[in-house]
Amino acid sequence: MSIPKEKIEEVRERASIVQVINEYVPLTKRGHNHVGLCPFHSEKSPSFTVNEEKKIFYCFGCNATGNVITFLMKKDGLAFPEAVRALASRYGITINESKSGVPDEREQIYSALKAASEYFSGMLRAAAGDPAKEYLKGRGLTGELAKRFHIGFAPNKWDGLFMFLKKKGIGVDVACKAGLLVKKDNGPGYYDRFRNRVIFPITDVRGRIIGFGGRALDEKSLPKYLNSPESPVFKKGETLFGLAQAKEAVSKEGYVLVVEGYFDLVALHRHGFLNSVATMGTALTTDHIRTLKGYTSSIYALFDSDEAGKKAALRGLNLFLNEDISCRAVLLNQGKDPDEFLQLAGPDALREAIVDAPTLMEYYLGSLRARLNMSAPEGKKKYFEDALSYLSKIGNLAERGHYATIVASTLGIGVDSVYDAIKGAGNPGSLKVKSGFQARSLPELTLLRVIMKHPELFSPEVETAFEAFTDDELKTAARAVAGLCREGVAVSGPALLERVEGEALKGSMAELLFREMDGFVEEPARMVQDSLKSIMNRGKVKTSTQDMIKLLEQMGKSDIAIELRKRIEVGPSGKRH
Ligand SMILES: [Zn+2]
Repeated sequence: MSIPKEKIEEVRERASIVQVINEYVPLTKRGHNHVGLCPFHSEKSPSFTVNEEKKIFYCFGCNATGNVITFLMKKDGLAFPEAVRALASRYGITINESKSGVPDEREQIYSALKAASEYFSGMLRAAAGDPAKEYLKGRGLTGELAKRFHIGFAPNKWDGLFMFLKKKGIGVDVACKAGLLVKKDNGPGYYDRFRNRVIFPITDVRGRIIGFGGRALDEKSLPKYLNSPESPVFKKGETLFGLAQAKEAVSKEGYVLVVEGYFDLVALHRHGFLNSVATMGTALTTDHIRTLKGYTSSIYALFDSDEAGKKAALRGLNLFLNEDISCRAVLLNQGKDPDEFLQLAGPDALREAIVDAPTLMEYYLGSLRARLNMSAPEGKKKYFEDALSYLSKIGNLAERGHYATIVASTLGIGVDSVYDAIKGAGNPGSLKVKSGFQARSLPELTLLRVIMKHPELFSPEVETAFEAFTDDELKTAARAVAGLCREGVAVSGPALLERVEGEALKGSMAELLFREMDGFVEEPARMVQDSLKSIMNRGKVKTSTQDMIKLLEQMGKSDIAIELRKRIEVGPSGKRH
């Protein structure tokens, strides 16, 4: 069941990497590149770079790199053939599988879920769905909204979906893996997982159904909310309900509103807050935050103003500090949840609450201050200690300064004392480990860069120089380039990345591809000659200088000898040359 090699090539050739990535990460054009916020690490200013011509992406922050296929694999958790097939179908490329053409397990699960969704929405439209329609109406969820979220209904039957899937030719094994059917404990047979429930289909960002959430119609039924179990296509902690519907509005508004419940989300949509998503009953996770970061750097989480809501807001603080992204706590002072708040106070009150929303850190400092006896020395000490433990986690200097000022003025001390204390607390800072080829041997780097851009200048001399590289990583990269040149294959991003092993080296390679120096094209042939000379003469220069040093020492001119020795140690690529 393997995909022919030329089809993989065709997919890579025809798929627009900018177009595909732009659906996950809003990109803006900058020079020859498109840039956006990296979906693979925390950042506030874009270092994630995509180049249509080179057909690769590269992050200058975390060195993540790859082509359009590996991007889908990383971002959607797809296997290689799945990613190729997804792109092929999108760009109208027909792949004739060499074997029977049986779709793989994930594809089968997607089909089962899609069929189930047809069943659920059909049941809602049917007469059997009247109680559900009544219930939804009572909660303000009708017509257009129900359609936008593809709401459905699972009737109060044990085998309704079972029979439907059977007719559709979907196997019970697949239906079980998809979380639609449950195997009976006692004896043979299967039954429907969702019964007598309003059904919310859960989709991934591309709108493919990956699971369901069901709200019991009968108030006595437990649990009140039932979600699909985790499956090969559904990971609850990574999924945000409504993101497919909200992503455009999130990019437009510049921020996202996060709630926990299905009905809270629908209520927000009903009142025009289209930039909203829901976590499906759980608190925000790191994975949620990372997903959202692909769309915005500003998260507003809605919390109830009761004790539980306040606690939930504070629990999130660490998470956001670690992910280096700003979150504001929108505290609702009426109703038991956002749905009720909107009913009681209306959308304008929510807009006001959004404008007034403190950052989680401000909220934390405020509640810490309120909780402690700030007129007693013990209270001040505790406040300082607790605040410090969070302050030292803030990587951004300007942001840290903002909070340090709040802490200083609360305690009536100078802000410098706060800074000193942060330093003493062993500030982890925001420095990221930087790899890549910068600050390596300059002639080696130059030669490699010129050849990558001008493969027509590749020659046996160049290859000899490649082999004389002293930097092992650069040598591996150079060998990959040499291989492509010898075979007459275009020196392209994807081809190069395929020929080097390991994420770190791939990252360095991509960086090289993106960091093409200005004025590069002016005199490539001369640059090759110069770097060749410099690389090949290295050994000779060293010996003759060493002879000279010996001579100088014999002459008693040790000061000049010492100076020369220093130069050798710096090497021909050093600043002194
Ligand atoms: Zn990154």
